[in-house]
Amino acid sequence: MKKSTHLQHLAACLLLLASAQAAMAQYSEYPKLNEWADRMKVAQQTYFGYPVNEKSELKDFYEWYTKSGLDVINLNNAGDPMTGEPFKMSSHPFEREVINYFAPLYGFDIDNVWGLVTHSGTDGNNHGIYFGANYLKNKTHMEPVVYVSDEAHYSNMRLAHLQNLDLRLIKSDKMGRMIPEELDKALDVTRPVLIIYAMGSTFKGAIDDMETINAIIDKHKKIPAVYRHVDAALFGGYLPFSEHKKMVNHKAMRFESIAISGHKFFGIDSPCGLFLCTREVYDNQDNFNVTYLNGNMKMINCSRDAIQPLKFWWLIQKVGEKGWTEQAKRIMENTKYLKQQLDKIGWPAWVNTYSNTVFFRRPPAEIVKKYTLAQGHDDNFGGDLAHIVVMQHITKDKIDGFVAELTSISGKNF
Ligand SMILES: *Cc1c(COP(=O)(O)O)cnc(C)c1O
Repeated sequence: MKKSTHLQHLAACLLLLASAQAAMAQYSEYPKLNEWADRMKVAQQTYFGYPVNEKSELKDFYEWYTKSGLDVINLNNAGDPMTGEPFKMSSHPFEREVINYFAPLYGFDIDNVWGLVTHSGTDGNNHGIYFGANYLKNKTHMEPVVYVSDEAHYSNMRLAHLQNLDLRLIKSDKMGRMIPEELDKALDVTRPVLIIYAMGSTFKGAIDDMETINAIIDKHKKIPAVYRHVDAALFGGYLPFSEHKKMVNHKAMRFESIAISGHKFFGIDSPCGLFLCTREVYDNQDNFNVTYLNGNMKMINCSRDAIQPLKFWWLIQKVGEKGWTEQAKRIMENTKYLKQQLDKIGWPAWVNTYSNTVFFRRPPAEIVKKYTLAQGHDDNFGGDLAHIVVMQHITKDKIDGFVAELTSISGKNF
């Protein structure tokens, strides 16, 4: 080979190498950002401990969104999506369609529902508690008492505190359900009752026994008025698509409002949620007439996200009842599978009825870290615990890999 061709060859090789390197992580001109994005992709592979669906079905949504030119339009859903004229620069008509799609799935009639796409499950609980307190005050002119189990999501306690409401924490049983007899003892029958049902409890995934608790409340005829809110951030996603749909039915369980997260079961790629209540609840809120928004602002937030309702709407078309029913079935099967595999290797594990959260004796720290397991502690179950929430991305293969790692250490003392 002549020297010049040799050099040309070398130069070509170097160029190839350089362009391959450039292709590796050049999503943007900011190396720090590119590296972080790559790290997130790796972390996603073993993200086991938190209740978010990591199988996003929104790739073509983003393609449509940029193609349509909406990516340079600043939209805002300030205002009431369910009544009156939609705000001009909003996705209100789609938000209303989303609420009307979900309403019957939670047992609400279209002509007796009000709702919105919220910022999160917590935002839905904030509306549930705020609407509940105002509804009860308007009906009775008395201050209500809030009741919630001590294993419910902390947002409920935080929000009752924020809203300056009288809160009574009710003891839960070993598995994490509110103890009905404890509520019976704690009820102040002279004041309105605002009860929050945990669906499920944060660490163990327990669902409060709504029918038994409703019967206890019914027994006390003196109670001036009752409002029931269901905190169904996670389970409210899949239960409507399962044989247990009655659990999230407004008519069967007699709740006035319900909050569900959008980034959990539904797999929207950033926080959002649904809030639904009856018209009677909506009609019993204080009026704040806001002329510049052409209406009555009964909800808490002014500016609201216009994109999240579009993502919900997109998923309704793309995944819909059929897809969600299949996903609900699969996560229930995989939950059972995880529990069986842990039983097989003798690793102490527990799971509540209807739940996709398996909690078990806490493995060594390196496994907790690798799989981003959420941690808990309960002496009833031998002390330190961890849990896995079996969402759509936790497949049987991934479960096998996790259990194999546990098996390799299960004989050892730690
Ligand atoms: C996740 C969760 C919440 C909080 O919801 P965010 O959407 O994270 O605000 C509240 N309650 C329950 C039962 C939950 O699982």
